[in-house]
Amino acid sequence: MDLTYTAADLAFRDTVRAFLDANLPSDLQKKVRNHLRLSRQDYVRWHQIVARQGWSAPAWPVEYGGTGWTPTQRHIWEEECARSGTPPILPFGVNMVAPVIMAFGNEAQKAHYLPRILNCDDWWCQGYSEPGSGSDLASLKTTAERAGDHYIVNGQKTWTTLAQHADMIFCLVRTDSTVRKQEGISFLLIDMKTPGITVRPIIMLDEDHEVNEVFFDNVKVPVQNLIGQENKGWTYAKYLLGHERTGITAVGRSKRELLFLKKIAAEHYKHGKPLMQDPVFSAKIASLEIDLMALETTVLRVITRESHAPGPEASMLKVRGSEIQQQLTELMVEVLGPGALPFDTDYLEGKADHAVTGDDAAAPLAGYYFNYRKTSIYGGSNEIQKNIITQMILGL
Ligand SMILES: Cc1cc2nc3c(=O)[nH]c(=O)nc-3n(C[C@H](O)[C@H](O)[C@H](O)COP(=O)(O)OP(=O)(O)OC[C@H]3O[C@@H](n4cnc5c(N)ncnc54)[C@H](O)[C@@H]3O)c2cc1C
Repeated sequence: MDLTYTAADLAFRDTVRAFLDANLPSDLQKKVRNHLRLSRQDYVRWHQIVARQGWSAPAWPVEYGGTGWTPTQRHIWEEECARSGTPPILPFGVNMVAPVIMAFGNEAQKAHYLPRILNCDDWWCQGYSEPGSGSDLASLKTTAERAGDHYIVNGQKTWTTLAQHADMIFCLVRTDSTVRKQEGISFLLIDMKTPGITVRPIIMLDEDHEVNEVFFDNVKVPVQNLIGQENKGWTYAKYLLGHERTGITAVGRSKRELLFLKKIAAEHYKHGKPLMQDPVFSAKIASLEIDLMALETTVLRVITRESHAPGPEASMLKVRGSEIQQQLTELMVEVLGPGALPFDTDYLEGKADHAVTGDDAAAPLAGYYFNYRKTSIYGGSNEIQKNIITQMILGL
């Protein structure tokens, strides 16, 4: 296959760059490039700027508001966003629940939810994992019992990313416990304002509030919020996970972070010389850069073959993408050594213009390193992805 960009692709890239130059607010760009924390408003603001341009869901079919871009153009868009330092368009609506609604939802659900997802009118979160049901997701215990035109939902979800901001949650719930565990699961859309829902923060290693426990206590959910057929939710859940794993690869962001790593390695000295000139350290960077180039090529091979639903190769991308993201944070901390240790919440949250240590680049990096331990766990842990690769790709 030919991996060089055509003249049309290069012209498209210029268009994207011009849009980003003109529309990405500098305060958001500063936060992203400097690893500072983003607020709910930051995410929504950027999503809605992109939505006004009609580009918030490039992979969607045009009839629902997609762009009609080729896979290569979508890759260029993602790469340019990452290069510029845009906030991410969060995946829970656009890339996770929306493809499920398109593929398995009814016309009323499509008409109601898809335009709202496109414009980020609703903030979505993902209610899959439960205590004891992460890797073994099909063992989930949250129940939904039919009572007339409602389901009554009881149970607990956990690790629910940014649920504290959410308007809606898509949930896997058990609707039949008498059959094989995969066959008794349904896919429900639940309004987070419904009485009986409690969101409790889980504070992570970097002291940030990114994940939550979500409790359901006799929560009444209208039957029209069921996606597809009752007890077929496992099929829909697996369809969604392929989309989640492809998104986690984050090659564009890793390329930006590699540049950042090189920059700090050029600015920090060891034995009187910039670390970048240390042969052992520069060999580590070179090795990581080669891995990243190889991953990018693999991503391009996958996306040019992909029709709509990603297959088991998404697991490969997830494993390598997450490993590279973690290695980048490890090398950043190695550059800074003890300089990475001071923890400055005011600077991270934008309440102070500069880090109290005077080293703005260094202040967020220990938190970033700790935060990114998550990438080999979420979206299905890397060990589970390796099981999928051995079974479904290698046929072992
Ligand atoms: C930051 C973060 C955000 C998350 N966000 C969400 C979210 O928004 N919504 C949501 O639903 N979930 C979310 N998750 C949950 C995530 O999907 C689960 O943590 C993940 O699937 C692992 O499940 P677990 O935590 O229950 O670990 P377990 O399944 O208990 O696994 C523990 C360890 O055992 C290993 N292991 C388990 N089974 C096997 C096996 N068969 N073979 C080999 N090794 C195995 C695992 O790899 C892991 O190392 C998030 C997790 C994190 C860390």
